[in-house]
Amino acid sequence: MKPRKPPLMQWGKPVLLGIPLDHNSSFLRGAAEAPQVIREALRSDSWNSWSETRVDLGAPGAFEDAGNLTGMESLNAFERIEQTIAAILEAKKRPFSLGGDHSITYPVLRAVGRRVPSLTVVHFDAHPDLYENYENNPHSHASPFARVLGEKLISRLVQIGIRTLNAHQLQQAKKYGVEIHEMRRLPVPGKLKHAGPIYVSFDLDVLEPGVAPGISHWEPGGLSTREAIQYIQALPGPIVGADLVEFNPVRDRSGMTAMVAAKIVKELLARMIAG
Ligand code: MN
Ligand code: MN
Repeated sequence: MKPRKPPLMQWGKPVLLGIPLDHNSSFLRGAAEAPQVIREALRSDSWNSWSETRVDLGAPGAFEDAGNLTGMESLNAFERIEQTIAAILEAKKRPFSLGGDHSITYPVLRAVGRRVPSLTVVHFDAHPDLYENYENNPHSHASPFARVLGEKLISRLVQIGIRTLNAHQLQQAKKYGVEIHEMRRLPVPGKLKHAGPIYVSFDLDVLEPGVAPGISHWEPGGLSTREAIQYIQALPGPIVGADLVEFNPVRDRSGMTAMVAAKIVKELLARMIAG
């Protein structure tokens, strides 16, 4: 039997959605402040609105901004995230979520994974986030991909920049067939083979904390901003959704991390728009 082709979908505009939720963080809070700070950095007069790849993000209608979700301290926060992302996809648009901590990626992918068949997730992070149940919180920011894979929401998980694997998470990676590209053995950007629709989950702590200290978990030895951008620019389309998570403005005394986060958002948005 021939494999079934996924239904053709018109990939519409990216929609920014702030998700100010940080109560699933295990160490420090503060990531809930990130969406507004990233928006301000995006609009900063210190740079222009063009991506390196010549997409003008300042052009009218280049992308939409749906503002921030409210009520993220309530018990049904995950349901609200899932419903809002689902509504964006049903409108034939593509969600770009600004976290918040990494726990938000689970409800986001409940919405995306159930609507987009054969989804590959490209996950940038210092941490594999595969804990079955971290500190007795199965919804911890250390666990979203255990939930996502446990529910079979996606076809493939490709992780880049990992440098904190322990025995438990190695076992989880084996169990779920996760493709891990550790920091100590990184492939050349463009050498990674992808097929089909891609979702990008970008945890800012994948970067060298010296250049982006505004994060909750400093793990030295990370990607340079340039390396991260090279991976993003080398991704094939279509990118059907993305998130940028774990920016913690409380730790960003110089404001540099905000600019780094906004730069990643710019290049990722441009990659999505380019098709
Ligand atoms: Mn993470
Ligand atoms: Mn991380």
